[in-house]
Amino acid sequence: MKIYVVGLGPGEDRQMTQRALDALEACDVITGYDVYVDLIKDRFQHKKLISTPMKKEAERCHIAVEEALKGQTVAMVCSGDPGVYGMAGLMYEVAQQYDPIEIEVVPGITAACSGAAILGAPLIHDFAVISLSDLLTPWERIEKRIECAAAADFVICLYNPSSKKRSDYLKRACELVLKHREAGTKCGFVKNIGREGEAGYVLTLEELRETQVDMFTTVFIGNSQTREIGGKLVTPRGYQIDQL
Ligand code: SAH
Repeated sequence: MKIYVVGLGPGEDRQMTQRALDALEACDVITGYDVYVDLIKDRFQHKKLISTPMKKEAERCHIAVEEALKGQTVAMVCSGDPGVYGMAGLMYEVAQQYDPIEIEVVPGITAACSGAAILGAPLIHDFAVISLSDLLTPWERIEKRIECAAAADFVICLYNPSSKKRSDYLKRACELVLKHREAGTKCGFVKNIGREGEAGYVLTLEELRETQVDMFTTVFIGNSQTREIGGKLVTPRGYQIDQL
Protein backbone atom coordinates (compact mmCIF):
# COMPACT_ATOMS: atom_id res chain seq x y z
CA MET A 1 0.00 0.00 0.00
CA LYS A 2 2.02 2.88 -1.31
CA ILE A 3 1.93 5.62 -3.92
CA TYR A 4 4.91 6.49 -6.06
CA VAL A 5 4.70 9.85 -7.83
CA VAL A 6 7.03 9.16 -10.73
CA GLY A 7 8.80 11.58 -13.07
CA LEU A 8 9.18 10.01 -16.51
CA GLY A 9 11.60 12.60 -17.89
CA PRO A 10 10.89 14.29 -21.22
CA GLY A 11 9.39 11.29 -22.97
CA GLU A 12 11.85 8.74 -24.29
CA ASP A 13 12.81 5.58 -22.40
CA ARG A 14 16.51 6.34 -22.25
CA GLN A 15 15.87 9.57 -20.37
CA MET A 16 13.94 7.77 -17.64
CA THR A 17 15.86 7.00 -14.44
CA GLN A 18 16.43 3.46 -13.20
CA ARG A 19 14.58 4.46 -10.03
CA ALA A 20 11.52 5.45 -12.10
CA LEU A 21 11.66 2.11 -13.94
CA ASP A 22 11.98 0.25 -10.63
CA ALA A 23 8.93 2.07 -9.23
CA LEU A 24 6.88 1.24 -12.33
CA GLU A 25 8.01 -2.40 -12.07
CA ALA A 26 7.06 -2.52 -8.38
CA CYS A 27 3.53 -1.16 -8.78
CA ASP A 28 0.22 -2.90 -9.54
CA VAL A 29 -1.57 0.16 -10.92
CA ILE A 30 -0.27 2.99 -13.12
CA THR A 31 -2.31 6.16 -13.31
CA GLY A 32 -1.81 9.60 -14.84
CA TYR A 33 -2.75 11.99 -17.63
CA ASP A 34 -3.46 9.91 -20.75
CA VAL A 35 -0.54 11.35 -22.78
CA TYR A 36 1.93 10.19 -20.12
CA VAL A 37 0.32 6.81 -19.56
CA ASP A 38 0.56 6.35 -23.36
CA LEU A 39 4.32 6.91 -23.19
CA ILE A 40 4.85 3.79 -21.09
CA LYS A 41 1.83 1.62 -21.74
CA ASP A 42 3.53 -0.76 -24.19
CA ARG A 43 6.25 -1.54 -21.71
CA PHE A 44 3.88 -2.00 -18.76
CA GLN A 45 0.79 -3.43 -20.41
CA HIS A 46 0.56 -6.19 -17.79
CA LYS A 47 -0.26 -3.54 -15.15
CA LYS A 48 -3.65 -2.02 -14.48
CA LEU A 49 -3.56 1.30 -16.37
CA ILE A 50 -5.95 4.11 -15.43
CA SER A 51 -5.56 7.22 -17.57
CA THR A 52 -7.51 10.41 -17.04
CA PRO A 53 -7.82 13.50 -19.24
CA MET A 54 -6.01 16.78 -18.54
CA LYS A 55 -7.59 19.14 -15.98
CA LYS A 56 -8.77 16.20 -13.84
CA GLU A 57 -5.74 16.38 -11.59
CA ALA A 58 -7.49 16.15 -8.22
CA GLU A 59 -9.68 13.31 -9.44
CA ARG A 60 -6.54 11.47 -10.58
CA CYS A 61 -5.07 11.81 -7.08
CA HIS A 62 -8.28 10.51 -5.46
CA ILE A 63 -8.21 7.52 -7.79
CA ALA A 64 -4.59 6.83 -6.81
CA VAL A 65 -5.35 6.99 -3.09
CA GLU A 66 -8.45 4.83 -3.40
CA GLU A 67 -6.52 2.18 -5.33
CA ALA A 68 -3.74 2.26 -2.74
CA LEU A 69 -6.23 1.89 0.12
CA LYS A 70 -7.46 -1.29 -1.57
CA GLY A 71 -3.97 -2.64 -0.89
CA GLN A 72 -2.44 -1.89 -4.28
CA THR A 73 0.91 -0.27 -5.00
CA VAL A 74 0.20 2.68 -7.27
CA ALA A 75 2.40 4.77 -9.56
CA MET A 76 1.14 8.19 -10.57
CA VAL A 77 3.17 9.21 -13.62
CA CYS A 78 4.10 12.76 -14.63
CA SER A 79 6.31 14.07 -17.41
CA GLY A 80 9.66 15.53 -16.48
CA ASP A 81 9.92 15.87 -12.72
CA PRO A 82 6.79 15.35 -10.63
CA GLY A 83 7.73 18.20 -8.33
CA VAL A 84 8.04 20.78 -11.14
CA TYR A 85 4.53 21.78 -12.24
CA GLY A 86 3.69 18.12 -11.63
CA MET A 87 1.44 16.14 -9.34
CA ALA A 88 3.63 15.61 -6.27
CA GLY A 89 2.24 18.51 -4.22
CA LEU A 90 -1.40 17.82 -5.02
CA MET A 91 -0.88 14.14 -4.21
CA TYR A 92 0.20 15.05 -0.66
CA GLU A 93 -2.71 17.48 -0.29
CA VAL A 94 -5.33 14.98 -1.46
CA ALA A 95 -3.85 12.04 0.48
CA GLN A 96 -4.13 13.89 3.80
CA GLN A 97 -7.93 13.61 3.49
CA TYR A 98 -7.59 9.83 3.87
CA ASP A 99 -5.99 7.38 6.30
CA PRO A 100 -2.20 7.80 6.34
CA ILE A 101 -0.55 6.40 3.26
CA GLU A 102 3.08 6.26 2.20
CA ILE A 103 4.01 8.53 -0.70
CA GLU A 104 7.39 8.39 -2.45
CA VAL A 105 8.34 11.05 -4.99
CA VAL A 106 10.65 9.71 -7.71
CA PRO A 107 12.44 12.58 -9.48
CA GLY A 108 12.83 12.87 -13.23
CA ILE A 109 14.67 15.08 -15.72
CA THR A 110 12.64 18.26 -15.97
CA ALA A 111 12.17 20.05 -19.32
CA ALA A 112 14.44 22.91 -18.20
CA CYS A 113 17.36 20.46 -17.97
CA SER A 114 16.61 18.21 -20.93
CA GLY A 115 15.89 21.27 -23.11
CA ALA A 116 18.99 23.13 -21.92
CA ALA A 117 21.14 20.17 -22.92
CA ILE A 118 19.81 20.37 -26.48
CA LEU A 119 20.48 24.10 -26.78
CA GLY A 120 23.95 23.97 -25.18
CA ALA A 121 24.41 25.32 -21.65
CA PRO A 122 22.03 28.23 -21.14
CA LEU A 123 21.21 27.67 -17.46
CA ILE A 124 24.70 27.20 -15.98
CA HIS A 125 24.28 30.18 -13.65
CA ASP A 126 21.33 31.49 -11.59
CA PHE A 127 18.04 31.01 -13.37
CA ALA A 128 14.33 31.43 -12.73
CA VAL A 129 11.66 29.00 -13.92
CA ILE A 130 8.28 30.59 -14.64
CA SER A 131 5.12 29.02 -16.02
CA LEU A 132 3.01 31.21 -18.30
CA SER A 133 -0.12 29.22 -17.49
CA ASP A 134 -2.65 31.40 -15.72
CA LEU A 135 -4.99 28.50 -14.99
CA LEU A 136 -3.78 28.34 -11.38
CA THR A 137 -1.85 31.61 -11.02
CA PRO A 138 -3.26 35.08 -11.77
CA TRP A 139 -1.61 36.68 -14.81
CA GLU A 140 -0.64 39.80 -12.79
CA ARG A 141 1.48 37.65 -10.49
CA ILE A 142 3.12 35.94 -13.45
CA GLU A 143 3.95 39.36 -14.92
CA LYS A 144 5.45 40.48 -11.62
CA ARG A 145 7.65 37.38 -11.47
CA ILE A 146 8.83 37.87 -15.07
CA GLU A 147 9.68 41.51 -14.40
CA CYS A 148 11.54 40.75 -11.17
CA ALA A 149 13.50 37.91 -12.77
CA ALA A 150 14.34 40.11 -15.76
CA ALA A 151 15.41 43.02 -13.54
CA ALA A 152 17.64 40.69 -11.49
CA ASP A 153 19.31 39.41 -14.68
CA PHE A 154 18.30 35.78 -14.14
CA VAL A 155 18.32 33.48 -17.14
CA ILE A 156 14.58 32.73 -17.47
CA CYS A 157 13.13 29.37 -18.43
CA LEU A 158 9.45 29.47 -19.41
CA TYR A 159 7.15 26.47 -19.14
CA ASN A 160 3.63 26.40 -20.62
CA PRO A 161 4.56 29.20 -23.03
CA SER A 162 1.38 28.95 -25.07
CA SER A 163 -1.95 27.30 -25.62
CA LYS A 164 -4.93 27.93 -27.87
CA LYS A 165 -6.40 30.40 -25.39
CA ARG A 166 -3.07 32.00 -24.52
CA SER A 167 -1.46 32.48 -27.92
CA ASP A 168 0.02 35.93 -27.17
CA TYR A 169 1.40 35.22 -23.68
CA LEU A 170 4.95 34.59 -24.88
CA LYS A 171 4.86 37.91 -26.73
CA ARG A 172 3.68 39.65 -23.56
CA ALA A 173 6.39 37.95 -21.51
CA CYS A 174 9.08 39.04 -24.01
CA GLU A 175 7.82 42.61 -23.90
CA LEU A 176 8.21 42.65 -20.12
CA VAL A 177 11.74 41.27 -20.35
CA LEU A 178 12.59 43.81 -23.07
CA LYS A 179 12.06 46.56 -20.48
CA HIS A 180 15.21 45.29 -18.76
CA ARG A 181 17.19 43.51 -21.48
CA GLU A 182 18.58 44.29 -24.93
CA ALA A 183 16.62 43.31 -28.01
CA GLY A 184 19.61 41.22 -29.15
CA THR A 185 19.65 39.09 -25.95
CA LYS A 186 20.25 35.47 -26.93
CA CYS A 187 17.31 33.13 -26.39
CA GLY A 188 16.22 29.67 -27.46
CA PHE A 189 13.33 27.26 -27.45
CA VAL A 190 13.03 23.49 -27.74
CA LYS A 191 10.03 21.60 -29.07
CA ASN A 192 9.11 18.00 -28.29
CA ILE A 193 12.14 17.20 -26.15
CA GLY A 194 12.86 13.46 -26.23
CA ARG A 195 9.89 12.90 -28.54
CA GLU A 196 9.18 12.71 -32.23
CA GLY A 197 9.89 16.08 -33.85
CA GLU A 198 12.44 17.24 -31.27
CA ALA A 199 13.97 20.54 -32.40
CA GLY A 200 15.92 23.35 -30.76
CA TYR A 201 16.29 26.92 -32.02
CA VAL A 202 18.55 29.81 -31.00
CA LEU A 203 17.31 33.36 -31.69
CA THR A 204 17.24 36.87 -30.24
CA LEU A 205 14.75 38.18 -27.70
CA GLU A 206 13.28 40.44 -30.36
CA GLU A 207 12.79 37.45 -32.69
CA LEU A 208 11.37 35.35 -29.87
CA ARG A 209 8.76 38.04 -29.27
CA GLU A 210 7.45 37.44 -32.81
CA THR A 211 7.54 33.63 -32.57
CA GLN A 212 4.53 31.37 -32.07
CA VAL A 213 5.26 28.24 -30.04
CA ASP A 214 3.00 25.46 -28.85
CA MET A 215 2.54 23.94 -25.42
CA PHE A 216 5.10 21.16 -26.04
CA THR A 217 7.82 23.79 -26.04
CA THR A 218 10.18 25.08 -23.37
CA VAL A 219 11.61 28.59 -23.80
CA PHE A 220 14.93 29.99 -22.60
CA ILE A 221 15.68 33.71 -22.29
CA GLY A 222 19.37 34.42 -21.77
CA ASN A 223 20.76 36.88 -19.24
CA SER A 224 22.94 39.85 -20.19
CA GLN A 225 25.96 37.52 -20.56
CA THR A 226 24.41 34.67 -22.57
CA ARG A 227 25.98 34.17 -26.01
CA GLU A 228 25.87 31.94 -29.03
CA ILE A 229 28.96 29.75 -29.45
CA GLY A 230 28.99 27.66 -32.63
CA GLY A 231 25.20 27.66 -32.81
CA LYS A 232 24.81 26.70 -29.14
CA LEU A 233 23.29 28.88 -26.41
CA VAL A 234 25.81 29.35 -23.61
CA THR A 235 25.70 31.40 -20.42
CA PRO A 236 29.23 31.96 -19.08
CA ARG A 237 29.75 31.15 -15.42
CA GLY A 238 32.22 33.96 -15.14
CA TYR A 239 35.55 32.11 -15.53
CA GLN A 240 38.17 34.36 -17.10
CA ILE A 241 38.65 32.61 -20.44
CA ASP A 242 42.29 33.78 -20.81
CA GLN A 243 43.10 32.09 -17.49
CA LEU A 244 41.64 28.72 -18.54
N1 SAH B 1 6.63 18.20 -14.85
C1 SAH B 1 7.06 18.66 -16.16
C2 SAH B 1 6.45 20.01 -16.54
C3 SAH B 1 4.94 19.98 -16.76
S1 SAH B 1 4.31 21.55 -17.23
C4 SAH B 1 8.61 18.73 -16.18
O1 SAH B 1 9.23 18.67 -15.12
O2 SAH B 1 9.18 18.85 -17.28
C5 SAH B 1 4.20 21.33 -18.98
C6 SAH B 1 5.22 22.20 -19.70
O3 SAH B 1 6.51 21.61 -19.55
C7 SAH B 1 5.02 22.28 -21.21
O4 SAH B 1 4.08 23.30 -21.57
C8 SAH B 1 6.41 22.60 -21.70
O5 SAH B 1 6.72 23.96 -21.50
C9 SAH B 1 7.27 21.78 -20.72
N2 SAH B 1 7.58 20.44 -21.26
C10 SAH B 1 7.32 19.27 -20.63
N3 SAH B 1 7.75 18.22 -21.39
C11 SAH B 1 8.28 18.76 -22.52
C12 SAH B 1 8.88 18.20 -23.69
N4 SAH B 1 9.02 16.87 -23.82
N5 SAH B 1 9.32 19.04 -24.65
C13 SAH B 1 9.20 20.38 -24.51
N6 SAH B 1 8.65 20.96 -23.43
C14 SAH B 1 8.18 20.17 -22.45
